[in-house]
Amino acid sequence: MKKIGVLTSGGDAPGMNAAVRAVVRNAMYQGIEVFGVYNGYEGLIQGNIKKMELGSVGDIIQRGGTILYSARSPEFKTDEGQNKAIENMKSFGIEGLIVIGGDGSFQGASKLTEKGFPCIGVPGTIDNDIPGTDYTIGFDTALNTVVTAVDKIRDTATSHERTYVVEVMGRDAGDLALWAGLANGAESIIIPERAEGFESVINKLKRGQARGKKHSIIILAEGVGSGVEYGKKIEEETQMDTRVTVLGHIQRGGSPSGYDRVLASRLGAKAVDLLIEGNGGRMTGIENNVVVDHDLLDILNKKHYVNMNMYELSNQLSI
Ligand code: ADP
Repeated sequence: MKKIGVLTSGGDAPGMNAAVRAVVRNAMYQGIEVFGVYNGYEGLIQGNIKKMELGSVGDIIQRGGTILYSARSPEFKTDEGQNKAIENMKSFGIEGLIVIGGDGSFQGASKLTEKGFPCIGVPGTIDNDIPGTDYTIGFDTALNTVVTAVDKIRDTATSHERTYVVEVMGRDAGDLALWAGLANGAESIIIPERAEGFESVINKLKRGQARGKKHSIIILAEGVGSGVEYGKKIEEETQMDTRVTVLGHIQRGGSPSGYDRVLASRLGAKAVDLLIEGNGGRMTGIENNVVVDHDLLDILNKKHYVNMNMYELSNQLSI
């Protein structure tokens, strides 16, 4: 293998740049040319591909977002789109592709591999919802963003004796809400995997109220429902002054944490090694602090589980 491509796809995550840097630098270190594909699979179809130099990835390890841009590409889901992508890569002499993204992006990488074009997936998403890796790139940074925001909300919740519902990202996965809830000492955590009955949230608030507790924080993963609706219902049921904060896209941005930079560097570099060794259809990951790789199709057929022990612990600690 003499030429490889790299792209970022799907929702952006802090640390994607550090992963791109690791891919480019590790490949060049081993005498391989790297082509950056801009705008994800859309750029692959349109031939938006440029040769990367050592300097192209200078000064990006600390930057959030992705210098390669990201996009969603409905056309890439079609056979014609995928064939066009392969033709474009071949016209540049590219023989293998590294895809940094979430499970949707891995579906695409798996399709290209099935068509004989080897791809390696690098898990980059703030949701931490990919099986086969303890952490995804971006999760740690997003978690710290949420924790810092909720600390600030807690100050005003205490001063005004209010109940706050904080809606965080997580359509299908509750990791961000669960970890933030535990880290912020939230009274209740509501996640898709265990949508704690509304009743029990209310009961807990009422128990606290009876004890003289005057402020509470409830962390809600967006996939369960709207924070605004939850806030209204809570105020109706408890008569407590209730406010809602939807953290939104600030959770996606920002300079990656030290942990995410290290993770991205390790997983990005490993992806290059896998391609050089002649692999395709693999995903890199981290398990017990060891860099591992798994079959991409196996990963796509597996389900990610949240750590329910942490959920129980949070309940115990917030009685
Ligand atoms: P993420 O990677 O963050 O989960 P998406 O689910 O939006 O993000 O997927 C990113 C892109 O991956 C899509 O826009 C599409 O081009 C491609 N993709 C998603 N699912 C498939 C699929 N089943 N087959 C081929 N390509 C897919």
